[in-house]
Amino acid sequence: MVNSDRHIRPLRFGMVGGGRGSQIGDSHRIAARLDGRYQLVAGAFDVVPERGRALADDLGLEPDRAYDDFRAMAAAEAERADGVEIVSVVTPNSTHYEIARAFLERGIHVICEKPLATSLEHARDLHDVARRAGAVCAVMYGYSGYPLVRQARRMVAAGELGRIRVVQAEFAHGGMAEPVEQHNPSAAWRLRPEIAGPSFVLGDAGTHAHHLATYITGHHATEVAAEMSRMVPGRQLEDNAHVLMRFDNGATGFLWASAIAVGNTHGLRIRVYGEKAGLEWQQEHPNQLRFAPLGAPARILERDTGYLDASVARLNRISAGHPEGYFEAFGNVYRDVADVVAASRGGPAAPDASADYPSAADGVRGVRFLDAAVESAAAGGAWTSATVDI
Ligand code: NAD
Repeated sequence: MVNSDRHIRPLRFGMVGGGRGSQIGDSHRIAARLDGRYQLVAGAFDVVPERGRALADDLGLEPDRAYDDFRAMAAAEAERADGVEIVSVVTPNSTHYEIARAFLERGIHVICEKPLATSLEHARDLHDVARRAGAVCAVMYGYSGYPLVRQARRMVAAGELGRIRVVQAEFAHGGMAEPVEQHNPSAAWRLRPEIAGPSFVLGDAGTHAHHLATYITGHHATEVAAEMSRMVPGRQLEDNAHVLMRFDNGATGFLWASAIAVGNTHGLRIRVYGEKAGLEWQQEHPNQLRFAPLGAPARILERDTGYLDASVARLNRISAGHPEGYFEAFGNVYRDVADVVAASRGGPAAPDASADYPSAADGVRGVRFLDAAVESAAAGGAWTSATVDI
């Protein structure tokens, strides 16, 4: 399936942020390269222009497509006949809005990092601008690209778990159990509200767990009750968050986001319990999904096997037993976005019916969830509405 995509012309691709030494820039470049659907032709990669130009040179970009700033890049690329068709925004949170908007309003598609924006107003505006411009605005909830996460979603949708009753989601790592922000710039901005937004670990990690809960169950959290703690002295934002959730179908849920869970490495997992079965997926063992039907032995479902939903088969790049992981999951999001964009420009292929990427609407819901949790925590854990009309 993947190889058959290769006759499609690659999208002219640009990046803002994701400079040398950044945490997630290389993951985007690798994911975009995986299936030959993107060709990196332009970038404003770094807040330090010389460093950005040096990276552009290493990546083989033409010198006139290495920009010192995103505004110049958006203006110049929109003027070119061979300008970028899609841009990923891989910069600290508070900059997403202005950068994504500069491209979207020119009709250039965007893949934006999460959280989509640092305020609900800005997140909504990006959603609306994209819709008006007829542009895709995807949000990089990359864990939704794992084949077994998509399998879990399909099993819930097919009723294999029955009505969903309980969701337990956690993204609790121990990577900032000490004040590493004192010497690590990628960590430092995450604790500054004017750059990170109103939350640290809930927006950085918890938003992924929230997206997975919504994505797999198909249900939205309508109310939350949160406790947010600052355990490492001197921090302005929380490094641990506990959030109770009530879902639109009556299910109850709990989300734990932490950067101080000593002994945990990455720590992302989700468990979903319905009337008929439960399932569990852990990102550190992403090629397996545990499915436990009521009154029957639990089973471990493996990636790339004939018993999975047919729509999931197209997400594999290597046969079962060879571990696939993070880059491939990101790559699946990139490829599905490329499918949709190619179809929208009248390309040779219709998007696969299961082409599926986290959208601006998901990004808006993610920001709403964060705002509601922050509001609840400030009110001593009061139940707080998390609904949003999109
Ligand atoms: P980082 O601090 O490691 O890197 C940020 C990069 O952006 C740097 O290269 C910096 O020079 C560049 N930059 C900053 N402002 C810029 C500007 N105005 N123009 C051009 N470049 C600019 O940050 P990071 O950890 O890579 O995080 C970046 C974003 O990705 C954040 O929003 C974060 O939440 C998100 N993220 C997502 C995932 C995921 O799994 N989806 C994982 C890590 C980070």
